[in-house]
Amino acid sequence: ENGDQTKEPACFSTVIPGWFSEMSPMWPGEAHSLKVEKVLFQGKSDYQDVIVFQSATYGKVLVLDGVIQLTERDECAYQEMITHLPLCSIPNPKKVLVIGGGDGGVLREVARHPTVEHIDMCEIDKMVVDVSKQFFPDVAIGYEDPRVNLVIGDGVAFLKNAAEGSYDAVIVDSSDPIGPAKELFEKPFFQSVARALRPGGVVCTQAESLWLHMDIIEDIVSNCREIFKGSVNYAWTSVPTYPSGVIGFMLCSTEGPEVDFKHPLNPIDESSSKSNGPLKFYNAEIHSAAFCLPSFAKKVIESK
Ligand code: SAM
Repeated sequence: ENGDQTKEPACFSTVIPGWFSEMSPMWPGEAHSLKVEKVLFQGKSDYQDVIVFQSATYGKVLVLDGVIQLTERDECAYQEMITHLPLCSIPNPKKVLVIGGGDGGVLREVARHPTVEHIDMCEIDKMVVDVSKQFFPDVAIGYEDPRVNLVIGDGVAFLKNAAEGSYDAVIVDSSDPIGPAKELFEKPFFQSVARALRPGGVVCTQAESLWLHMDIIEDIVSNCREIFKGSVNYAWTSVPTYPSGVIGFMLCSTEGPEVDFKHPLNPIDESSSKSNGPLKFYNAEIHSAAFCLPSFAKKVIESK
């Protein structure tokens, strides 16, 4: 006997009271959920809905327009990789630009590099900065570094006006391409990144999920191959609270001194970054491993 097939099992209820479910047209047909202990902040900025809640298992969670941006438990896997994959691949990074990244986590990681003299950061939404300082002090600690110059504005406009050849590295820590970050995934933006980098300078951008967004990744890769005349690579990491549990990065360099992203040459001296706590995720082995791709993705990415 198979029982009554017409009745929906109780566990199929779509929205479970007391749980946050992440639904978006960017990952149709699936929704990762976290049990909510307490909602700590709810607001609406000029750009997006902002929520902070205390989860049962991942610490505090920052949500923008219904999409998880970070949790206290797994943010290290993202922030450390998006920062150290580019910065450990070039000798003596001095001037760095961060686009997005309003939580301050990328700043915290950039600050571990003692050669860095200046960090410009352009985040569109002041509410993300303020909320992160209030609820995520271990992440927003990045703002305390005296080398940081914070600009509240659109990263696209900021880069258009940036001096040519002025940065050693640009890190694009953006949200998904629905909403204010849309243009950060388009060709003109990558062109202005290339213009702002010195010869042999590097960029690392948030580049979505191998499991969900091969179409977006294909477009990014072919744009980048046209624009960046040095190396063009895709790397990825595991972040349990991101849709499909993985997130990727596009790493490119401009024409000039060659950059071999797969073999880091600029290790982090951990003794010089004590105030930011120990590294939790990044190491030299995981750096090289991040560039190994599953066959289905390798075929597509290498053919572009
Ligand atoms: N650092 C994060 C993590 O650990 O996963 C998550 C991403 S971060 C919060 C993404 C930021 O990009 C948001 O704060 C958003 O406001 C910002 N952003 C989106 N579009 C932007 C634009 N056009 N210019 C600058 N910042 C932008």
